[in-house]
Amino acid sequence: MKRGSLFGWLRVSLLLVLLAILALYALLSSPRNVDWDTAVRVRILPINADQLPQTGAYLAALQVSDFHDIEAFFIREGHKYRLALSPPVEVALAPAIDTPPPEVPDEPSILQSLWWAVKMRFWVWQHDSWSSEEADVRIFMSFYAPGNPLGLQHSLGLQKGMIGLVNGYASASHQSFNNFVAVHELLHTLGASDKYDMRTGKPLWPDGFADPVKSPLFPQQRAEVMGGRVQVTPGWSLLPPSLDHAVIGSATAIEIGWLSARRAPADP
Ligand SMILES: [Zn+2]
Repeated sequence: MKRGSLFGWLRVSLLLVLLAILALYALLSSPRNVDWDTAVRVRILPINADQLPQTGAYLAALQVSDFHDIEAFFIREGHKYRLALSPPVEVALAPAIDTPPPEVPDEPSILQSLWWAVKMRFWVWQHDSWSSEEADVRIFMSFYAPGNPLGLQHSLGLQKGMIGLVNGYASASHQSFNNFVAVHELLHTLGASDKYDMRTGKPLWPDGFADPVKSPLFPQQRAEVMGGRVQVTPGWSLLPPSLDHAVIGSATAIEIGWLSARRAPADP
């Protein structure tokens, strides 16, 4: 084979591989439109991320009732916005997974992000036995033994592909905070944006505050779920211990389509 034609052939092959990756990415990441006429079905998939027996034991004992506060949160908040649909989300628990998902690259280039997204979708396809007809959003919850700094890694929610990746601790006392993080990432998959300062972590006023028109403004009592923290004084904020200490603010409600959804009749 002539040198020129070999290079030509290689170039075409490389282009075809790139096109195949892009096609696969587009195919696997088509977002579903949530109209709030039927409940959003959320599948929680626990992962034994540190492979420790104690984490495994915690995962083996997990029940769907350990996630009921997520449903209760959406019922309570949906009622506040007169959403006709109740419950707005239904949570199911899938069997635990033993293989951790592909590592999220630090400050990735566009190509690295794309490659990670393809690997991630392939990993999901390998490890989730549930078909897409059975779940609208999948939340992968990586559990670590309490004290492991990896349990504090950034969680994320991808609107394309409707996938959330949550990091948390395998202990009953941490589960309600794990569920708070899960709801934050779940709302990202439904179109909600972050409402905190990326540099300081402080919630942004007014959208990131649970009660932005309270007078005096401080102390705030609860967190706006996408604001992420309870701003107690201008300089001091706290992570909410559970969804009981969180609300869906009006900016988030608009982003996820609650104000254009079917409304319940007003209370007399
Ligand atoms: Zn976020």
